[in-house]
Amino acid sequence: MCTVCMEVLKFPVQFESCGHRCCANCLPELLRTSAQCPIDGIPIDRNRQVCLR
Ligand SMILES: [Zn+2]
Ligand SMILES: [Zn+2]
Repeated sequence: MCTVCMEVLKFPVQFESCGHRCCANCLPELLRTSAQCPIDGIPIDRNRQVCLR
């Protein structure tokens, strides 16, 4: 599940800081708006996400 849009992850990206995930589609939007994890509020470093395949 994506932490942003709550839909099934097609292209998951994991936040290195806390381990939660969102889809690659939602990441740019998230970085542009809050730049933090929607679940726990941990700041997301835009250079440190892990792409999962
Ligand atoms: Zn999403
Ligand atoms: Zn998190």
